[in-house]
Amino acid sequence: LGGSISRALQQMSNATIIDEKVLNDCLNEITRALLQSDVQFKLVRDMQTNIKKIVNLDDLAAGHNKRRIIQQAVFNELCKILDPGKPAFAPKKGKASVVMFVGLQGSGKTTTCTKYAFYHQKKGWKPALVCADTFRAGAFDQLKQNATKAKIPFYGSYMESDPVKIAVEGVERFKKENCDLIIVDTSGRHKQEESLFEEMRQVSEATKPDLVIFVMDSSIGQAAFDQAQAFKQSVAVGAVIITKMDGHAKGGGALSAVAATKSPVIFIGTGEHMDEFEVFDVKPFVSRLLGMGDLSGFMDKIQEVVPMDQQPELLQKLSEGNFTLRIMYEQFQNILKMGPIGQVFSMLPGFSNELMPKGREKESQAKIKRYMTMMDSMTNEELDSSNPKLMNESRMMRIARGSGRQVREVMEMMEEYKRLAKIWSKMKGLKIPKKGDMSAL
Ligand code: GDP
Ligand code: MG
Repeated sequence: LGGSISRALQQMSNATIIDEKVLNDCLNEITRALLQSDVQFKLVRDMQTNIKKIVNLDDLAAGHNKRRIIQQAVFNELCKILDPGKPAFAPKKGKASVVMFVGLQGSGKTTTCTKYAFYHQKKGWKPALVCADTFRAGAFDQLKQNATKAKIPFYGSYMESDPVKIAVEGVERFKKENCDLIIVDTSGRHKQEESLFEEMRQVSEATKPDLVIFVMDSSIGQAAFDQAQAFKQSVAVGAVIITKMDGHAKGGGALSAVAATKSPVIFIGTGEHMDEFEVFDVKPFVSRLLGMGDLSGFMDKIQEVVPMDQQPELLQKLSEGNFTLRIMYEQFQNILKMGPIGQVFSMLPGFSNELMPKGREKESQAKIKRYMTMMDSMTNEELDSSNPKLMNESRMMRIARGSGRQVREVMEMMEEYKRLAKIWSKMKGLKIPKKGDMSAL
């Protein structure tokens, strides 16, 4: 998708004069790409109309970068679709909330219930899981296994066939046990069937959930809108989780699900494991959808603050996607100096929020200095390798000894390195503009 849209925008920028026809061609190309990415037809058509309104060609004075204005308009429109205007109900720690999960069979409900519980447990909540899926054989076993692995209390039955009864019993039990996040996993069907929706209505009626989360498999294609709408019409869906974002799915279904449920996406699932679960953030998601990387505005910033002669080298490194410890060292130096490039890198998602959270700059600086001390004890081979496996235990012990730190700290630094390398790798294949042509970005 990103490729097609960038190509459409590129073709437009190659045209000497941007007139109605060029703009229409470009928008048609973008439309096709969005449809292929499972965004619902009506959404795409509305978006096209809106963009035409925003990008009034007569008003765009000469000298303005029309391509960028149109790109920005596309970006904003997609963000708007993903923002239903009101946040999802947010459970409060220490106060019992009931959260009910709904979705078709195989969408990832049971897996996601556990991920959601685990995510909150790590943050100090007391979650609990209730298995109200009496439809699928083995449903309770699956939930039990997941819950046991994550050490989360669970409730269910092999004998009882009434999902409403189990749901009510489970919720009551965990309210008594002072759990603050009571998660009700429900059954699904292979397709949208009235019997399923009736069951969801009954479970919801009986347990009075504070939040109903609709779980959707990102690979279901154009069916997303209808499916989400069907669930919304039977229960009060208040949030969406999109699963299997690690696969080939293009993610456009998320836009349809939000449009159909008028509820925000709160998390995405990115794998089968418990911790493959991310808080959903609109802008990076749309950037990814459009192939702009996670870094809206990043290129603008590079142009603004990186000295002209250093730009190509930096972009080259980014486009290669190999993040070595030496690059990390150099970026740490920049951050500490808070020189121009430091400013740029503090805009990178991973560098800014997690490494240097706002209000804790002092601690972050101390941490960065500690990391640099440890890196000073590394060999050139270690610094220039982008293979984290090279760093075996004996090397880590040597580095710890050499820098007077704990092995645990070296390991922590390597984890940080891996995290940043993952972010960095998303920049791979970045198109490098020719010298003096940064405006084409
Ligand atoms: P349910 O029928 O809705 O409860 O779905 P399950 O939780 O049983 O999941 C169905 C399948 O999808 C299982 O094999 C899961 O491991 C898999 N699955 C769930 N979430 C994800 C995800 O985010 N990524 C991947 N790759 N697989 C997932
Ligand atoms: Mg299940």
